[in-house]
Amino acid sequence: MQGNELYFFLGVVVVVWLFFFLKGNKRPPTNYFICARCNKTEQYSARTTEAWRRGFSKLYCQVCHKQWLNKNPERKHDKSDSGQGGCLGVLVVLLLMPPTIFGAIWYVF
Ligand SMILES: [Zn+2]
Repeated sequence: MQGNELYFFLGVVVVVWLFFFLKGNKRPPTNYFICARCNKTEQYSARTTEAWRRGFSKLYCQVCHKQWLNKNPERKHDKSDSGQGGCLGVLVVLLLMPPTIFGAIWYVF
């Protein structure tokens, strides 16, 4: 029984991962963006890609982003450079998806 549950869990994880990969792995159409503040052309980072996914039209280069963070110290804990937003998205999907998949599997079998 324990083994079956493990395989079932792994199956759910793979399905969730595939779902996230297909639905959430949207990438910007170009590799570069123009900073909304200093007009510098910069390559998309994890932070700006995440911002692009969230629909932000104004993207800032690394230098301007740091300057903005210095002016807004209360936002400093938001270390979006490390891709924390993406991880949080995965976590939300992982939390929300299993009940849906369980329901679907119960319905099919
Ligand atoms: Zn800039």
